[in-house]
Amino acid sequence: MRVRKCTLRRVQMPLREPVKTSYGMHAMKDVTIVIVETEKGAVGVAECVAMREPTYTEETVSTAWHVLTDFLVPSMRDVDINETRGLRYMSERWGRIRGNWMAKAGLEMAIWDAYAAETKVPLYQLLGGTVREVPAGISLGMNSDLDALQERARRAVADGFQRIKLKIAPGADVEPLMAIRRALPDIPLMADANSAYEGCAQLLAGLDGVGLMMIEQPLAYDDIVDHAALQDKLRTPICLDESIRSANDVRRAAMIGACKVINLKPGRVGGFGSSIAVHDEAVRLGLGLWCGGMYETGIGRLHNIALCSLPGFGLPTDTGPSDRYFESDIVDPPVTFHRPGFLAVEPLCGVASRVNWKRLDDFTVQSNTIVL
Ligand code: MG
Repeated sequence: MRVRKCTLRRVQMPLREPVKTSYGMHAMKDVTIVIVETEKGAVGVAECVAMREPTYTEETVSTAWHVLTDFLVPSMRDVDINETRGLRYMSERWGRIRGNWMAKAGLEMAIWDAYAAETKVPLYQLLGGTVREVPAGISLGMNSDLDALQERARRAVADGFQRIKLKIAPGADVEPLMAIRRALPDIPLMADANSAYEGCAQLLAGLDGVGLMMIEQPLAYDDIVDHAALQDKLRTPICLDESIRSANDVRRAAMIGACKVINLKPGRVGGFGSSIAVHDEAVRLGLGLWCGGMYETGIGRLHNIALCSLPGFGLPTDTGPSDRYFESDIVDPPVTFHRPGFLAVEPLCGVASRVNWKRLDDFTVQSNTIVL
């Protein structure tokens, strides 16, 4: 298979419910959709999950657009992608381009998607997946109104969500978590700190009494060593998110006891090939594993669900139905539960077959086509 053409589309979609994290408020989904077309006319799509601001990782919509346009897409000229092995290790050709994992993932995943379409093999099978149903958890933003937070959590459980994750920060941690615990004594509960405890790790001691499944990324976004020292003192398992960019990072973290769980987001590690390697390493080392979310459109959601078909994803994903974030999604039908709290892994030969191109047009604010 060869890529003949690649189109980048900047898409802006209003979020139903603005999300507050320790980074700030998010009211608009601003993201790049990568569309590749092969010489035989097959189409693949993927979502480059870099956000408008460099607040999760260093990348932004604009930096990813630049790196895709000037480096990654042109590098695919005259490249044959002929077999699954070639597909899995495709991003190694970008080894001399440092970092920029989300830009790389956007193109790499669109190529996997096109490969599934061209070969008519379901994407989850290409990835090596076997599981056909994925449990979903919900991620709740910070809310100082504890009654409203309890009500929101009860509603999530009534909708079927299998676990609750709460964004926390110093001063907004034990109290809101205990409020959820009181309202729902049996629900698996976890916290995501998004690095908010850097320099004040001692504030986390109180969390051990809440009975959390894990606390996600309490310390610096690029740290492994300090997390190991903290895990030594904390009974609550630490989950690393931002710090893990590759299977080697998983190995390093496990070697020094920095975490017991990995949150894998394919965009953060450079795409599906690297995600499979992270999955395999986490399984080998006996770490818990789940797939996080980046408030994706339906395109990214369907890709996350396909990835979650790999057998090592033992914990609920952050990916949920489209209507959690969007009034109308750019895939038709939108992502929904096939039974409360569970997403079906559909045998899609690429997600492009589910795109509502008219709606994608409506949300597109910028477009760039590169012919190879
Ligand atoms: Mg996180």
